Amino acid sequence: MTPEEIQRARILARALAARRGRLELDVQRAFSLFPPEKPLGEALFRLAEAYPRTLDRANRRALVDEFLHRAVPLLPVDFGTHLVARQFVYAETIGAALASARRNARNRFSFDMLGEGARTAADAQRNFERYEEALRAAAASPRFGVSIKLSSIHPRYDAAGFSHARRDMLERLSALCRAGVDLTIDAEEAERLPLQLEVFSELSRRFPEWDGLGLAVQAYRPGVHDTLAEVFELARRRGARLNVRLVKGAYWDAEIKRAQELGVESYPVFTDKRDTDRAYALAADRLLEHTALVFPQFATHNPVSAACVLALAESRPGGFEFQRLHGMGASLDAALAKAAPAVGVRVYAPVGGRRDLLAYLVRRLLENGASTSFVRQAAQAADLDRLIEEGFEFLQPSSPHRFALPMEIHMPERRIAKGYDLGEPNALADMAKSVERQRRRWKAFPLVQGKPVEGAGRAAYSPALPEVDIGEVCDAAPETARAAIALAHAARRRWADTAVEQRAAALERLAGLLEANLAELMALCVWEAGKTLPDALADVREAVDFCRYYAAQAREKFGNPVFLRSPVGETNALTLHGRGVFACISPWNFPVAIFTGQVAAALVAGNAVVAKPAEQAPLTAYRIAELILEAGIPPDVFHLLPGDGRIGQCIVEDARIAGVVFTGSTDTARAIQAALAKKGGPLVPFIAETGGLNAMIVDSTALPEQVCDAVISSAFRSAGQRCSSLRMLYVQDEAAGAVLGLLHGAIEALRVGDPSDPSTDIGPLIDAAARGALAEYVDSLRAKFPLIAEAKPRPAAGHFVAPVAFEVKSIRDLPGERFGPVLHVARFAIEDLDSVVEDINATGYGLTMGVHTRIDSRAQRIRERSAVGNLYVNRNIIGAMVGVQPFGGEGLSGTGPKAGGPHYLARFATERVYTVNTAAAGGDLRLLTRAA
Ligand code: NAD
Repeated sequence: MTPEEIQRARILARALAARRGRLELDVQRAFSLFPPEKPLGEALFRLAEAYPRTLDRANRRALVDEFLHRAVPLLPVDFGTHLVARQFVYAETIGAALASARRNARNRFSFDMLGEGARTAADAQRNFERYEEALRAAAASPRFGVSIKLSSIHPRYDAAGFSHARRDMLERLSALCRAGVDLTIDAEEAERLPLQLEVFSELSRRFPEWDGLGLAVQAYRPGVHDTLAEVFELARRRGARLNVRLVKGAYWDAEIKRAQELGVESYPVFTDKRDTDRAYALAADRLLEHTALVFPQFATHNPVSAACVLALAESRPGGFEFQRLHGMGASLDAALAKAAPAVGVRVYAPVGGRRDLLAYLVRRLLENGASTSFVRQAAQAADLDRLIEEGFEFLQPSSPHRFALPMEIHMPERRIAKGYDLGEPNALADMAKSVERQRRRWKAFPLVQGKPVEGAGRAAYSPALPEVDIGEVCDAAPETARAAIALAHAARRRWADTAVEQRAAALERLAGLLEANLAELMALCVWEAGKTLPDALADVREAVDFCRYYAAQAREKFGNPVFLRSPVGETNALTLHGRGVFACISPWNFPVAIFTGQVAAALVAGNAVVAKPAEQAPLTAYRIAELILEAGIPPDVFHLLPGDGRIGQCIVEDARIAGVVFTGSTDTARAIQAALAKKGGPLVPFIAETGGLNAMIVDSTALPEQVCDAVISSAFRSAGQRCSSLRMLYVQDEAAGAVLGLLHGAIEALRVGDPSDPSTDIGPLIDAAARGALAEYVDSLRAKFPLIAEAKPRPAAGHFVAPVAFEVKSIRDLPGERFGPVLHVARFAIEDLDSVVEDINATGYGLTMGVHTRIDSRAQRIRERSAVGNLYVNRNIIGAMVGVQPFGGEGLSGTGPKAGGPHYLARFATERVYTVNTAAAGGDLRLLTRAA
């Protein structure tokens, strides 16, 4: 913007904000509508009524209490006012919306059919019909249009599902476009942008002469200008203009959180609000310069942004309009009517039933309740002129380091593993290609003193393609195991005396090597363990995080002695030391993370290691073992011994073993415990992480769509072969209809198949034995319990079992842990909540558990009564992050301490205290100085 334009914008902004006085009036009016003693309570009660009908009376009351305590301080006044008046939804039906919009001669309208993204094919069909109906109605006036969310018309509008969804989506959208009524494609999460653009370009090509097609573009994305350039290019190739709605963006918090979880290199959105405001003004400038190609629509409630648009437009002829949300920005609208009477204002008007209000409301709350939001600030500001001036701060350069990058959120302790957003279609396709390039015939041997021990080999097969041989494995013979233990035993003292810094540095080098070999390790996970690409990525990243986390922990805990409070004349120093030779015995289901995590912890704590990977995943373990040596772990300190339970047994029985860390089934843990009890030699610690019967409890205040997503990922990701996988879902009676309906459709939409195919959701079970046993179990359930849903038939070859859910009575119907994609669901009455928790505890397992409720006190109540290692509220129950959610269970689920937690390393060490009587050697300095 030129200095003159900025000056002009300042004047305009003051004029636009001057009508803020209206807000106070609105508030007073709202308060007068309700009994003075608890006006907002009443209002919020009404809001609660608008929640899903399933909400029972008791929950509604509790919900209102919660809202009073937590939500009210968040509500900006303008927003709260309308909340009170229940005016966020423009109308419940499109008919009513139309009638009301006809009476409003000033505004144009874009009707938004409220609702969550489709989780099922039936949802998508229903939403499509609602759009058709809305478009028919909106045809009544050229002032009316419709906004559409692509996620609402197909359950698989995501990177993995899009290749199959594309045709259906375009057919539906083309049918909607043929109505000839203004149609704008709403903006959603950043990862979906490439899909959104692909759909938009295709429609733009299919309807080249139609000027009603529009796209919402978010200014909070650093790529906003590239998106605009693409839209201009599209418009150049057609005969009519495109509509572009410029918004700032409504998913900010979610985008930041997700980027941090994914560990990607940068955020997909600006982290400084000023950057967004600047990008908005710049984008406005570009749009106004291209009015021959596009019709700009500026969606903002911020008078500074609106003033910038007006100032820019003065020297750039060509039409444009403003947009605002129904229920917001009314005072700005009124001010615009005066300041720029010729410019139209379109109202984004949500239409829908009360059930669909919540998600929309939350988005608006986050967007406008944020402390950086102008609307929020204006509602509280005493000095409006100053606020306006602050609004122009975007003209100053922002400070680049206000926010740690996603990979650096744990700095200075450690960097988190480099991540990739596989929800983004291009990233997913690239990853699939680089993983495919790594495919080869691998080999695995015992690795003793750094050398492979050759012997009779067996062929290894992929669980998805059992007819294709993927490599060759030589298992360790008992004498090889004994030789390895002897070497490790001889090296143990030297390694224990090696400086912790050196041991930690080796782990950090290992982390770097794992990252550098990501594609090959993922390929091994895919072909040897049947993992899908996102699961394979998560497995390798977790291993990287373990290495860096344990390195940091070791420096802290082993680096310096802890001097204990002592009587004068004495010093007492507590130090941690390696114990000797540790046996690390791992399962196949996280062939990278668990194998590496165990070994890394044992090594950095100063132990020599013999590692026995699962017999199903030796190829992966061998590759990691090579990297461990490459990272600088001395070859006599670490040895790999592939083989089955017999070689494991042979290792744990050896008298020279000073500790065992084991992850696997509870039965195997018991066998190892028995062997350790019998063996000679030192008494040793046994760290066991075992199975679970994990439950999730859902009450009627939970959002069914959120529950559905959490259940599907918890129960079926990794084909249900995680120790943390959800086995037992409890749904409160009142919510059961809605939740089961969604689950039914979502399970049917899952794609079972080749895990190397990016469009696959669910891969195979690990081997023929696992598949056979699970198929038999599913048959037994089929005979006894009603089926809720089952995914489409699986591919004929490969050890596949299609995801399936049955309705049982309670967790007591489950015979124990069954490893695979089988979900059990039971209904419960809210009065029986405590006994549900008791039943879950009574299984004896205590690994993970989930709760979905909006009532804090209820989550707390469950927390107090349950005995589980990891309890998750309002999210899925898998994917614990190293150092963030230390992981592990109690009871039948394990001994602890938790992997990836601050107490883990100590268990691998022995503690020694060094006491010196300083009085004997000439007195205590403290005493002498005090006396002086
Ligand atoms: P498993 O118990 O069959 O095997 C685990 C490991 O133990 C393998 O390496 C195996 O060869 C070895 N083993 C078997 N018998 C042995 C013996 N007598 N002595 C010494 N070693 C022996 O388990 P699995 O099928 O590979 O893994 C699935 C199980 O692991 C499930 O129960 C799952 O819940 C559990 N698991 C738990 C966690 C956790 O953190 N709690 C994580 C992953 C898996």
